[in-house]
Amino acid sequence: MKNCPYCKIEVGGNLKKCPLCQSNLIGEDERPYFPKQTTLKIQSFFYKVQLFIVWTIVIASLGVDFLFHFKVWPSLNVHWSLIVAMWLIVFEFGIIRLFKRGISSSRIMTLFVFIVLGMFSVTAYYVGHLWFAAAWVAPIVVMGTLIANYVLAMLDKSGNAMIYLLTNLVVGIVPYIVFYFSERDCPVTWIVCLMVSVILFVGAIIFKGREVVGEIQRRLSV
Ligand SMILES: [Zn+2]
Repeated sequence: MKNCPYCKIEVGGNLKKCPLCQSNLIGEDERPYFPKQTTLKIQSFFYKVQLFIVWTIVIASLGVDFLFHFKVWPSLNVHWSLIVAMWLIVFEFGIIRLFKRGISSSRIMTLFVFIVLGMFSVTAYYVGHLWFAAAWVAPIVVMGTLIANYVLAMLDKSGNAMIYLLTNLVVGIVPYIVFYFSERDCPVTWIVCLMVSVILFVGAIIFKGREVVGEIQRRLSV
């Protein structure tokens, strides 16, 4: 047992400094309390490296754009470096938020897709291709997510399939409703997307019906 001559406390493990006053402890080392966390150290090193690179790019592009007035896209009616900054900063927050433990892979994926789609729409709007993004890119990406989500729901052993599937259904229906109420013709891609989401929902009921019913009962405690 080690002890601090100033605080008169005993400290287990192999700490070098007193946790209260930071003076050197005296006495024999014991077996360390905590295992060494080398992977975490490596991860945090790479995290710092990429963070440094990201900030270098953000600052450099802001500088080149605002101070040198360099244009990469002639028809762009906003500073391009702001779009670069948006992507990279959201990417950083994404890394912090999404790679916390205890978030299901389905949720990570769905959130990730929506964040990317949101930023993509902003970019497309300023570059002048919003309609193309809304009618083709977004529905195809969403369809891919729906299918991946469905596969995850089928593989899920912890009885949370219903959440994936309801998400899928909502994601399929909402764009259609938005187009309906904005009195624009719904692009055929979004209609296909709606059909895919309903088909996957039906498929889930057919293949996992019993578990889904069990889950509804558990969640609503009926
Ligand atoms: Zn002390």
